[in-house]
Amino acid sequence: MDDILARRGLRAVINASGTMTALGASRILPEALAEMAAISARFLRMDELHDHASAVIARITGAEAGFVTGCAAAALTLACAAAITGDDLAAIEALPDAPGRARRIGVQAGHLVNYGAPVGQAVRLAGAEVVPLGTAALCEVWHLEAALEAGLAAVVHVVSHHTVREGELPLRLVVERCAARGVPVIADMASEYDLDGPARLGVDVAIWSGHKFLGGPTSGIAAGRRRMIGCMRLQNRGIGRTMKIGKEGIAGALAALEAWERRDHAAARAREEAIVAGWLAALADLPGVALAPHADWTGNPITRAELCLDPARAGLNAWELAERLMQGDPAVAVRDDLAEHQRLYLDPCNLTAAEAETAARAIRATLEAARAAGDGCRRSWAEVKAARRRFPLSGAPT
Ligand SMILES: *Cc1c(COP(=O)(O)O)cnc(C)c1O
Repeated sequence: MDDILARRGLRAVINASGTMTALGASRILPEALAEMAAISARFLRMDELHDHASAVIARITGAEAGFVTGCAAAALTLACAAAITGDDLAAIEALPDAPGRARRIGVQAGHLVNYGAPVGQAVRLAGAEVVPLGTAALCEVWHLEAALEAGLAAVVHVVSHHTVREGELPLRLVVERCAARGVPVIADMASEYDLDGPARLGVDVAIWSGHKFLGGPTSGIAAGRRRMIGCMRLQNRGIGRTMKIGKEGIAGALAALEAWERRDHAAARAREEAIVAGWLAALADLPGVALAPHADWTGNPITRAELCLDPARAGLNAWELAERLMQGDPAVAVRDDLAEHQRLYLDPCNLTAAEAETAARAIRATLEAARAAGDGCRRSWAEVKAARRRFPLSGAPT
């Protein structure tokens, strides 16, 4: 069988990290690939395809309308643009300039995070001015009310493990207060499994990634009020052009959504839990590694295995373990965004049972080798982080 990675000189990665876009996001479902191939050679009216997509997204999310975009970040920018321009075509062509328009968009300070690029930048690309609400770990109702009083074109609410969840205003309350003032709420739910919750809460536009948990091609899915979604679609005559998705991306995203609707979620969960239980059993005896099942940070139905390292006994700092696993053959990617706290997570979502076993063997072998060599605690987290930054094409650290 032709192996595209080998043919192109690329190294395969066993992905125990989750749906990371830097690793290729997810496995695209066969049913999505089939629809993409089928539509690729055909001509059609793109407007009709967008209308059809809207109906499918509306049915599955419970919203009035929907729109498929290039990715979730694009959908965030286009939703902000819609809030600023409405259906004024001259204003749409003038973006990112927005002379004379209300363009202040409120975002809780703890939601101004980086998902690979800053949330605030996706908002500003629409010509908006970001108005941070409250402080990093405390946003009170009066912070929101004061900003609403001063005038906002929209509020962006981010639901994600990246955000600071202490002291944040819940989405329900944000929607209630904004609705009272007629200010739209845009919810970035890129990685959240909850597809019908936002419409029930009255969110004006909710946004998901098509290529994360849904297993679609690179795409963004927006669902919300007919008027807002219509104004988002109009942005394709303006800044949306640089974020364009084609017929194949739309068809693939719809197929992934429909597959999600049909999926036996209990069986998928049971499969993942069996992988996690396997890890907990297989790694239980490793010295200096405390293992525990870990529930998802934002309440998605995902359990991961948490590895908490005591470097003196384990022989390795968490970041060094992550680094060595990624350099191994096969390379194993683990979730390391909390590595500086000596914690790593193993995510079962993108793994076969055989890959999960390979990952466990690699972890054991790496820890044993480090204990034998006594070289696992030499580099600081800052040094490892610095070494990871690489200038594209030259490979030299930046
Ligand atoms: C992944 C992510 C994004 C970006 O999604 P893309 O579809 O890759 O553009 C935006 N916001 C949050 C919270 C995310 O997790």
